[in-house]
Amino acid sequence: MSIILKNTCFIDWETLRFSNTHLKVEKGAKGSVFFFDDFDEIQISPTDNIIDCKGKLVTKSFAVGHHHAYSALARGMPAPEKSPSSFLEILKYIWWNLDKVLDKDMIEASALATAMACAKAGSTFVIDHHASPNFIVGSLEVIANAFDKVGIGHLLCYEITDRGGLDKAQLGLQETEGFLKKNQGLVGLHASFTVGNSTLENAVQLMQKTNSGIHIHVAEDAYDQNHCIENYGSRVVERLNDFGVLDSSKTILAHCLHIDENERNIIGKSPAFVVQNTESNLNNNVGFFNSKGLGGNIILGTDGMHSDMLRSSQAAYFVGQANDEIDFAIDYNRFRVAHNYLRSNKFSGDADNNLVVFDYDSPTEINEGNFLGHFTYGLTSNHVQHVISDGKLIVKDKVIQTVNEDDILNFTKEQSVRLWGRL
Ligand SMILES: [Zn+2]
Repeated sequence: MSIILKNTCFIDWETLRFSNTHLKVEKGAKGSVFFFDDFDEIQISPTDNIIDCKGKLVTKSFAVGHHHAYSALARGMPAPEKSPSSFLEILKYIWWNLDKVLDKDMIEASALATAMACAKAGSTFVIDHHASPNFIVGSLEVIANAFDKVGIGHLLCYEITDRGGLDKAQLGLQETEGFLKKNQGLVGLHASFTVGNSTLENAVQLMQKTNSGIHIHVAEDAYDQNHCIENYGSRVVERLNDFGVLDSSKTILAHCLHIDENERNIIGKSPAFVVQNTESNLNNNVGFFNSKGLGGNIILGTDGMHSDMLRSSQAAYFVGQANDEIDFAIDYNRFRVAHNYLRSNKFSGDADNNLVVFDYDSPTEINEGNFLGHFTYGLTSNHVQHVISDGKLIVKDKVIQTVNEDDILNFTKEQSVRLWGRL
């Protein structure tokens, strides 16, 4: 069974070329898309799903560069016992309090909620960073299964850290190695300030052994940088680079806010990628992203704040006006670099048969010449009508097709109450 999108206005995500065409979408992880000028040329089988897209825009769906599915049940949770007054206190009183009570059902609920939210906002691929210190072994499989169920491609990792002791760090390494034997993924590390030299070395060895990359938070707050200078006599990026973290083109460095010129140089010359998470930085009051010297390997993420990549790109553009060098084209490019990351590193799940169909009711003309203006000021996730992942229709007329949304939301609400009761 193939999906046929009839009467589309197709926008090539790389060239931004518009074409009025009909599309036949092949199924599977490496599936393609075939273009037809004449609808009658298409060989249609009785089981094919024909969707009329007259008046709609079709383009490649999106990928989230840095997410935390485990935080999905935090929305509406009780306030922490102490109101945090610094980044470290935000971690201590909120996130490290939440992640330690996560069990299997809560992790599954978080991943299902995240996958559904991503799908409905037009993303079909998620690069996730997971933490559940009291349910480490088996946690990535739970997330992978939930994402697969909804139909979202994934590149997962477990956040290895010494913050719960070396035994827990060991379990994190074990979970990572076991998961990578059967799945694509990364070696996750929390951040320089919670990872000692022996754990860092073990993680890099695992990265090399599995031909993977490291996914780590870098200088999100000045605390990370100060801790590194005090404890290791070097700056965060220098320390990570000395251990070989930046040697892999699969490595992802999240944030990179508090870095100096030399660190920017090291990153710019390395094959590693940087992820910008603007709204999370605003929320934590940790500073502003600046792309100076970092090169072109910059992608956008949501950092667990939400699952809406169009929103992330708008935030990057608006906040970047005062704090970064950014224009429509740079912003759109950052929004799309995740596809280059996935393609050049040969990760599967982001082939041409991942598409989003917009019902975009613009009051003004839209064409090849002004698409970026519409992208920045007009398009929102509210315009997402259908979503196709690996050639499979996962959202139709704004409704998830792969799972029963109501059942899942009942389950996630039930799990959120359980979680909050344990805080
Ligand atoms: Zn993060």
